[in-house]
Amino acid sequence: MELKRTKIVDIFNPELVGSKVSVKGWVRTRRGNKHVQFVALNDGSTIKNLQIVIDLEKFDEETMKPITTGSSLHVEGDLVASQGKGQTVEVQASSIEVYGTADPDEYPLQKKGHTLEFLREKAHLRMRTNTFGAVFRIRHHLAYAVHKFFNDRGFFYLNTPLITASDAEGAGEMFQVTTLDLNNLPRTEDGKIDYSKDFFGKATNLTVSGQLEGELGATSLGAIYTFGPTFRAENSNTPRHLAEFWMIEPEIAFYDINDNMDLAEDFIKFCIQWALDHCKDDIDFLNQMYDNTLIERLNGVLAENFVRLDYTDGINILLEAKKKFEFPVKWGIDLQSEHERYLVEEHFKRPVILTNYPKEIKAFYMKQNDDGKTVRAMDVLFPQIGEIIGGSEREADYDKLLNRINELNIPMKDMWWYLETRKFGTVPHSGFGLGFERLVLFVTGMQNIRDVIAFPRTPNNAEF
Ligand code: ATP
Ligand code: MN
Repeated sequence: MELKRTKIVDIFNPELVGSKVSVKGWVRTRRGNKHVQFVALNDGSTIKNLQIVIDLEKFDEETMKPITTGSSLHVEGDLVASQGKGQTVEVQASSIEVYGTADPDEYPLQKKGHTLEFLREKAHLRMRTNTFGAVFRIRHHLAYAVHKFFNDRGFFYLNTPLITASDAEGAGEMFQVTTLDLNNLPRTEDGKIDYSKDFFGKATNLTVSGQLEGELGATSLGAIYTFGPTFRAENSNTPRHLAEFWMIEPEIAFYDINDNMDLAEDFIKFCIQWALDHCKDDIDFLNQMYDNTLIERLNGVLAENFVRLDYTDGINILLEAKKKFEFPVKWGIDLQSEHERYLVEEHFKRPVILTNYPKEIKAFYMKQNDDGKTVRAMDVLFPQIGEIIGGSEREADYDKLLNRINELNIPMKDMWWYLETRKFGTVPHSGFGLGFERLVLFVTGMQNIRDVIAFPRTPNNAEF
C-alpha cells in the first residue's frame, strides 16, 4: 500500500518522529559532501523547508544527478529528530523519485537574493520563493478573514456584475467590452458607433465598482458585501494602483456615517489580527527580511483608535504644517498622497478617517450635508499606504440625489434602477470600498502593489 503523503506544514509534529513518512515538493538547495547530501525540500504549504538527508551509500550517481535546485521529488524515509541546527526534524531518505528536473543552466531561481523587480518578470515561478510564498499565503488568509468577518456579522456575500452598462460612477477610467469588429465598426446615420449592433445592444464596460448594485442588495437583504475583481484603466503608473484589483464593498441599510466608520475600523483590525494569528511564520519572515518595523506597525494599528477628523480640520493642520508640500494646500483640493501621509505618519502617527469632504471632489451619490458644500464621505488613511478605504453615507433623498445628478450632467438613462431605490422605501444607508491589495500591502509590508497580486495587470503589462 502506498504511504500517504504528509504536507511539510504538518510534519513538524513531535508525534510523527520515529514514523515513516512520504513527502513531495521542490528542491530549494542541495549541499553536502561525498558521504551525505542534504536537500532542503519545500512544498509551498509553509515557509519552512524540510531537510532530507541522503546517505550516498544507498543512492547512486544516477539517482542523485537530477536532484538540483528547482527539481521536484517524492521522498520516503524515516522522520527523525535532527541534530543539525535550524530544524527540529529531518527525513532520512529510503527512496527518492524525481518527478521533474530543472536544468541548472536554465532554471532562473538558482541563487537567493534576486531583486523583486527581477522576480516580477518571472511571475510564473516567483511563488516558489520564500518571499512570494509568504505573500500569497498571507493573501489567502486575509481573503478568508474577509468572508469570516462579514459572515459572522450576518452580512450576505453578493456577486455584482463585472460587465456593466452604467457609466455614471465616475470612479475611474473604464475598459470597454465589445464584440464589434474594430476594423469595421457599424455606424449610425450621424457617423457614431452603432452600439445597438454590439453584443448587449448597448455600450458596456468592465465594472469600476460594485457599489451601485450593492446598494440594491443592502436595501433588500439589509447588509451585503461584495468581494470581487474591479477594473480601472488607471493610466498612472504608481506602486498603489492596478488596472485589475480586488475590492471588498460592504453596503448596509440603516447605517449612518458613524456606523460606517466603526465598521471600517473593526473590519481592518479584524483582518490584521487574523493575519497575525494565522500567518506568524510568514509575517516573521517578512519582518526579518524586508522591514523590521512591520510587526510593530501591525500591532500599533490594533492598539489605537483611528483618528476621526473633518476634512476642513485636516486642511488646517496641513496649512499650519512647517513642511513644504509639492502640491499646495487649500480648502477644496483632493488630498495628494504626501498630504495624507503627513497627517497619518507625522502628525497623528496612527490611521486617520477623514470625513465631510467638499462635494466637488466626491461622487454624486454621497449624502449632502446641510452646509451645501460638503458630503458625508469618509476615507481611511493608513501609514505607508495612504488611502486604503473610500466610502460614504449615501444620499437617500430622491430629489437631492436627482438634483446632484442633473448638476453634474450624469447620463441616467441606464441608471433608472438606481434611482428607484430612493423612490420605493428609501432608507439611510452607507458603505465603503476597500482595495484588497492595499490591505495585503499593509500586512506584508511590501512596497509595490505588483508584488501582492499573483499576475499584476498594469499599463503595458498583461504578461502571464
Ligand atoms: P485613489 O485615490 O488611491 O486612486 P480612489 O479614490 O480612486 O483611490 P475609490 O474609488 O474610493 O478609490 O476605491 C475604493 C478603494 O479601492 C480605495 O480606497 C483603494 O483601496 C482601492 N483602489 C482604488 N483604485 C485602485 C487601483 N487602481 N488599484 C488598487 N486599488 C485601488
Ligand atoms: Mn483612483
